[in-house]
Amino acid sequence: MKRPTILVLGAGYGGLTTIVNLQKLVNANEAEIILVNKNDYHYETTWLHEVGAGTISPDKARYPISKVINHNVTFVKANVESIDVNTKLVGTSAGDFSYDYLVIGLGFEGETFGIPGLKEHALSLTNINTARQVREHIEYQFASWTLDEVKDDSKLTIIVGGAGFTGIEFLGELGNRIPELCKEFDIPQEKVRLLCVEAASTVLPGFDPELVDYAKAQLSKKGVEFSIGTPIVEATAEGVKIRKDEEDFEFIKAGTVVWAAGIRGNALVESSGLESNRARIAVREDMRAPGFDDVFIVGDCAFLLNEEAGRPYPPTAQIAMQQGVTIAKNIKHLINEEPTEVFVYDDKGAVCSLGHEDAIGTAFDRKFTGKPASALKKVVDDRALYLVGGVGLTLKKGKFKFL
Ligand code: FAD
Ligand code: NAD
Repeated sequence: MKRPTILVLGAGYGGLTTIVNLQKLVNANEAEIILVNKNDYHYETTWLHEVGAGTISPDKARYPISKVINHNVTFVKANVESIDVNTKLVGTSAGDFSYDYLVIGLGFEGETFGIPGLKEHALSLTNINTARQVREHIEYQFASWTLDEVKDDSKLTIIVGGAGFTGIEFLGELGNRIPELCKEFDIPQEKVRLLCVEAASTVLPGFDPELVDYAKAQLSKKGVEFSIGTPIVEATAEGVKIRKDEEDFEFIKAGTVVWAAGIRGNALVESSGLESNRARIAVREDMRAPGFDDVFIVGDCAFLLNEEAGRPYPPTAQIAMQQGVTIAKNIKHLINEEPTEVFVYDDKGAVCSLGHEDAIGTAFDRKFTGKPASALKKVVDDRALYLVGGVGLTLKKGKFKFL
């Protein structure tokens, strides 16, 4: 009998965790395992705010996929171009692939909600290359301000749209980076404006109010201004328009606009033959797609309801990695013709960094702020490396400056 083919799309947190667990559970006689990813490296999406601000290099945030896969896995560096779950065919820049079991882990894209001008004029922190672009764009604005004979200070204004975890973590890093940049480019720091624009009535909506207050106060000390309850309604090459009241709009000029105000799943799932909402698929309890017993969804392309809370689990690396473990086990069960397991999320809390030395977080039924929270964040980052690549990868790529 022909060995089944397991095809995993995407080497992010979800896809790579599925792979490293599959390679432990399934041997070469049992199945062929193929991993397709657009780069031959994995990047830590959870570190993109640091790459974007320029507080770490893009290389620090990535490592070769070859370092964590073994001979049981065939790696294909290719762009996935189409998925058809009815014909069981995946089209890629390296040719077509068929499968017996498919795992879709292609991550997220920015959601601009149809707001005019955002796609054209705002930057984002969605992958390692967009994050690098943010860093280089800011540096270019700063460098050209210094050289300009007639100076337009709005070149030194950075607007961050969205005060969710991504926006706040990015602003925290900028708080560390701006003084360095000003020194580098001979710019008086008071010329720089860091503005966070949030549509909701608070930053970090839904997070612990005491920790939210702490975050806001700490970022204000780093020079961040907040415009709260004022959605961005348009972006142009010059800046953004915000709505302050029903009829009251303001245009704010800026050299850099970073959109961190929402995400959706990868658009490829929308033409895959699977039912989706904002490119996310409401998975069954064993992480399979509805109606397709051979298709699993992992990470940000999966939509999973927290029945107790009556709202979806937020798309995070934490849940993506746990899903990857369950999916690997369930594929092994299917090969053995055994019943699959239900995915049960073990919520370990959340930590939001406010720069390299500060953070807020909830874990072990406690709240954390400051250096202890920041140390916890680094432990979380190191743990993710350890779970995929063991001690070797953690020592090579980990964050060890805890205090
Ligand atoms: P990803 O990890 O994004 O991986 C997707 C993979 O698919 C990538 O390797 C990509 O190259 C590949 N890919 C995409 N399209 C194609 C294609 N067409 N062809 C081939 N390959 C493709 N979550 C936490 O739990 N904790 C945190 O501290 C945290 N911090 C974050 C900080 C930032 C700045 C951001 C943006 C997110 C953060 N998150 C955090 C959320 C977390 O990063 C995501 O939920 C997580 O990355 C989702 O994992 P994934 O495997 O679905 O996608
Ligand atoms: P998000 O959806 O969580 O937050 C987006 C924010 O943008 C919201 O506060 C929203 O009110 C605001 N917004 C929406 N429209 C707007 C508009 N027109 N103008 C201004 N503001 C607007 O998105 P995110 O922060 O990118 O997070 C995405 C996911 O990644 C979440 O699940 C989050 O938990 C996770 N994440 C986790 C961490 C961490 O654990 N440290 C870090 C980053 C992201």
